[in-house]
Amino acid sequence: MEKITLYNTLTRRKETFEPLNPEHVGMYVCGPTVYGDPHLGHARPAVTFDLMFRYLQSLGYKVRYVRNITDVGHLEHDADEGEDKIAKKARLEQLEPMEIAHYYTERYHAAMRELNVLSPSIEPHASGHIIEQIEMVQKILDAGYAYESNGSIYFDVEAYNRDYRYGRLSGRNLDDIVTNTRDLDGQSDKRHSYDFALWKKASSEHIMRWPSPWSDGFPGWHMECSAMSTKYLGEQFDIHGGGMDLMFPHHECEIAQSTAAQGKDSARYWVHNNMITINGQKMGKSLGNFITLEQLFTGKHDMLQQAYTPMTIRFFVLQAHYRSTLDFSNEALQAAEKGLDRLMKAVETLAKIKPAATSTSDVKELERRCAEAMADDLNSPMVISALFDWVRIINQAAEGQQSFTQEDIDSLKATVNKYVFEILGLRNEKAAEAGGKDMVTPLVEMLLNMRMEAKANKDWATSDKIRDNLTAIGIRVKDRKDGFDWEIE
Ligand code: ZN
Repeated sequence: MEKITLYNTLTRRKETFEPLNPEHVGMYVCGPTVYGDPHLGHARPAVTFDLMFRYLQSLGYKVRYVRNITDVGHLEHDADEGEDKIAKKARLEQLEPMEIAHYYTERYHAAMRELNVLSPSIEPHASGHIIEQIEMVQKILDAGYAYESNGSIYFDVEAYNRDYRYGRLSGRNLDDIVTNTRDLDGQSDKRHSYDFALWKKASSEHIMRWPSPWSDGFPGWHMECSAMSTKYLGEQFDIHGGGMDLMFPHHECEIAQSTAAQGKDSARYWVHNNMITINGQKMGKSLGNFITLEQLFTGKHDMLQQAYTPMTIRFFVLQAHYRSTLDFSNEALQAAEKGLDRLMKAVETLAKIKPAATSTSDVKELERRCAEAMADDLNSPMVISALFDWVRIINQAAEGQQSFTQEDIDSLKATVNKYVFEILGLRNEKAAEAGGKDMVTPLVEMLLNMRMEAKANKDWATSDKIRDNLTAIGIRVKDRKDGFDWEIE
């Protein structure tokens, strides 16, 4: 297997990826909370880990990719008054909480299909794994790293920190955490502000609740990922991914829970994608710059100058390395749209290049550069830059300034297909949209061959007439040294 490196947030360095079992690579990524429309912020982790999933599979690994659905709802300190978000919406709209979770899960899936994000191998719902979560809470209690208080169970951060180190992932120590933890959710039954809930007793108005040995209630948010990753990937697995915003407290707490329950951390490589900012600002509902994916696809948002296709969004995300910041702006998306268009046109041009006796460029160079870039911590912008160097070469070949043997053309096509479509996961939207182009092709080519004959007979009137009529219906004809080229405008 090819040697690849990944940046491990836990050790803060690039490490050679060595899976526990190449026949069974385990990858867990924190999925969406389903109480709102999928937005621009969802696109980045989705595309990043889709790239990783596709790439690992292209190397020959068998990957079990688990991405959860958070449908239990969880308390968000700054979002509302401590009421479960799904429950609140359900109460206001008189719906079953699961109706809301289902509705937004479907919306999320639809947006992911648009972005050409592959479905994970397993997509467990938190609500379907309450028993597993209760079992794990019990394990942590038995190990002495949690305590009960008024029917709720809290993780005992201090006790844990004595035996292990709390804050390993985010690089914080307990003193920093003490001074930075505000006790906003009124959980006065906690011993310390930094202790976090493993199980919460439900108040009487709380709709989503399950029985447990301690109270009718619901699991703490961090529990679901620890419990479900263990269930589907085992006590130890290879990769745990998610957005950088989840590093603390969510992933830090996951590490503490798994370590407390089993004496060791579950995940070996922690991988975090950076965030998307909007014109340099963090995205947030209160800032008025919150853009849903549907708004991007339709252009219906005050900040948008136009609609952007799903592949433009995907290409925009892939143009930056996943650990770099990525700033959204109309200009940046328009540049991505143009770049993607050039790339897709070159793919079409490549299909029409006629073979020659010799090759003027080494087609293996593209494969080599792309492979090296991906092996270096999934460096998609370097892959794209290599592809663009070859866009230029392909266009030169179409102009007769470069030539390739049939064997090299086939090899180049295979490399372009592998990286553009299989690994970067792009789609040629224009070709798909034109849909009929494949039926049109033989007709246009028949007319253009007739035009070639007319030209050979110096029948300029017929030749011009064919070209002008095609132009009139939106088909642009370009004369080439050895024939013609055409495109739908
Ligand atoms: Zn998670």
